[in-house]
Amino acid sequence: MSGTYYRPKKRYKIKYKNLALLLAILLLIILLISRGCSALFNRNKEDKPDDALTSGDQTENPPEGGLDSTLTTDPTLQTSYYFTSVKMSDADLGMGDLALVNNKIKFLGSVNEEELQVVREKKNDAYSVSNYEVKVLPQAMDALNEMLLAFYNATGNDGVMVRAGYRTVEYQQELYDEELASTGQDFSTLVAMPGFSEHHTGLAVDFTTYRNGSYKEFDGTGDYEWIMNNCYKYGFVNRYPAGKESLTLIDNEPWHFRYVGKVHAKIMHDLDYCLEEYIEYIRNFTVGTGFYSVNLDDGSQYIVYFVPKSNAETTDVYIPEKDHTTHELYPYEISGNNVDGWIVSFLYKEGSGIVVPEPLPEDEPAVTEAPEGDEAGETTAEEE
Ligand SMILES: [Zn+2]
Repeated sequence: MSGTYYRPKKRYKIKYKNLALLLAILLLIILLISRGCSALFNRNKEDKPDDALTSGDQTENPPEGGLDSTLTTDPTLQTSYYFTSVKMSDADLGMGDLALVNNKIKFLGSVNEEELQVVREKKNDAYSVSNYEVKVLPQAMDALNEMLLAFYNATGNDGVMVRAGYRTVEYQQELYDEELASTGQDFSTLVAMPGFSEHHTGLAVDFTTYRNGSYKEFDGTGDYEWIMNNCYKYGFVNRYPAGKESLTLIDNEPWHFRYVGKVHAKIMHDLDYCLEEYIEYIRNFTVGTGFYSVNLDDGSQYIVYFVPKSNAETTDVYIPEKDHTTHELYPYEISGNNVDGWIVSFLYKEGSGIVVPEPLPEDEPAVTEAPEGDEAGETTAEEE
């Protein structure tokens, strides 16, 4: 997984060793009593949903046959893990691949412009880019290369042109003013308000197409349907699909893609959720209620959950330990949702790395040379 990895800043400390020992003995008794009565035992576990988190029942050296034996094995249950905590500050809420930005939710994060990559310099030959100004963050850059190379290999079509990436608030203001001036309206459902555009995240791109000497709007049909159907495998979602306008607050835009990472894109694809729906849905999966499990196409298994922002300036975001003896953590990512908390995902089980290749389309279309000119791709409508 690419993206921002946060190192744990604080290890969960052991307290009340005596209490831990007492609890261990108590649990041992419960274990003995419930032997042969699995229904009672299961209910007992469910009755103690905060086992691993409340202070007092964690220990560095659990007594033999002690606390470790109380861990469950279901990866979606928090009772299956010991946790370490990472402190996240409210200032981090907008940071990460899942920042939700729309016409009602302003982007709270910021992009370090030095991290942005010039698509023209980093791209492969499977697609083109309208000019040197198009920049995205590295995780989106890598995903673009991977996706559009796979698209080319599947279709023989190199006609995708990236025509927009990161935008400053100032540039969005220019686009917004132009849009209002040209439509004569005081609000736009196509161009987002300055500060409210996904393009501020450095994780959004707009496509157009250039083939056989002519530009065409990227409408997601024909060969390009492959991208609509497969983008999630590379961590992208089509951000403004038809039928979700009342949630995204933006008209259907087949050409606008947002990088959210492979794990979240897969879940959104499976559930047919737009980002607004996904951010809402994943709030149901917490350390208190249980986690969401998803299998990617390569067989890897990821666990996802939400940690609501606390009332304090910082929030302890709990990260499960893979090995309680060494405190090794599962490979994880944390992203703010840009609203009210953080979404954690971690790799529970590695996959084979083998993904079944896409079948080739029936007609092999001719390959065209796309230009890399400075003014190319300015012919289609600007949008959010
Ligand atoms: Zn866009």
